[in-house]
Amino acid sequence: MNSIKTWLAGIAGLLAIASSLLAQNVQVSPKAKEIHDSAIVIDTHADTPQRFLDENFDIGSVTPTTEGNIDLQKAREGNLGAEFFSIWVAPDIYKGHFAKRTLDLIDSVYEQAARHPDQMMMAFSAEDIVEARSGQHKKLAALMGIEGGHSIEGDIRLLRDYYRLGVRYMTLTWSNTNEIGDSSGDLDKKDVKHHKGLTPFGKQVVLEMNRLGMMVDISHVADKTFWDTLAVTKAPVIASHSSARALSHAPRNMTDEMLRAVAKNGGVVDVNFYSGFVDEKFRLAEEAQKPAQDAAVAAALRARREKGLPVDYMDEEKIQREWMAKIPRPPLSALIDQIDHVAKVAGIDHVGLGSDFDGVSGALPAGMDSVADLPKITQGLLDRGYTQEQIEKILGGNVLRVFREVERVSRQMRGQP
Ligand SMILES: [Zn+2]
Repeated sequence: MNSIKTWLAGIAGLLAIASSLLAQNVQVSPKAKEIHDSAIVIDTHADTPQRFLDENFDIGSVTPTTEGNIDLQKAREGNLGAEFFSIWVAPDIYKGHFAKRTLDLIDSVYEQAARHPDQMMMAFSAEDIVEARSGQHKKLAALMGIEGGHSIEGDIRLLRDYYRLGVRYMTLTWSNTNEIGDSSGDLDKKDVKHHKGLTPFGKQVVLEMNRLGMMVDISHVADKTFWDTLAVTKAPVIASHSSARALSHAPRNMTDEMLRAVAKNGGVVDVNFYSGFVDEKFRLAEEAQKPAQDAAVAAALRARREKGLPVDYMDEEKIQREWMAKIPRPPLSALIDQIDHVAKVAGIDHVGLGSDFDGVSGALPAGMDSVADLPKITQGLLDRGYTQEQIEKILGGNVLRVFREVERVSRQMRGQP
């Protein structure tokens, strides 16, 4: 009896492995590939600039997916047309030097484009994206978005300087509350001074972004900041990397009410691929291990500081990866569920992709290891009955529309024809 039981358990184990392998190896059909390759694919959030700067990573080199999610070869394989590179300044590490770090990260994106002029170009408008993807020799359009208004150091002139340097969106807050408004990331922290939403300065910032033609990004903000921003902005907003709270109860995910409000505003919600924002089971497992994980990170950074070694974000990232790998990855279908949910609640014109690649310590749904896997999303949507026209909107069409509208509002506010 026992040997039969062992034998059956063995078979069951093999079946489980086979089915998880199958789930990871989504086959992209020729039809899906054709649809995907004819679309302008835009990802509104990737944290690769940290790698450019701190790891001296060259986007022209080929990255093992255990280390990074984006390089030029993978971008070609996944037909990635435009990437909004995130200019994210770790507030704890760069306290007192936010602007310098911001400028260094901006420089790192330009330097990559300068190294690979045949494959990559800086882009500053919706038309630049279209141009980069036209003709025989398509290039990756590189755009920049600042993640976290602390980068402007409470100075609206810096906001204008960043615009002049090519930054085309700014996330009003990262996980830290700042002069602009409250973040969803520290609402439970008693030592943080909160503002009950968007501050008077924050209102000024939103209107100045509208005037400049910089997209207002409401990812990461507290719910109250979100509602205040929608009441103030004269242009459509984006959520550069946010998923739906109905499917994963992360406070920085968006409620259905918020999704509908972005639709009414004419904006777009670009779904975040991070497993914890996509899948509730993963989120709960991450929450459970967080105290031990945070302690391990803090101890490692302390040890480096005590030895007099420099500390950058990549030191932290290495440890985070090890911890994330302890939790089983959700299936790729969980990501498609998210896109499907936003499409159903907000409408097909208000959903896009905001991967958060290179910013989630490898915690991505099974089979979604890099930008080369983006065609699997097209396959997943096709399998659920989405038409080519609808898929093109999700892959990038909606973001292009919002970008153009933001540019139009800017011209109007500046009194230009
Ligand atoms: Zn983020």
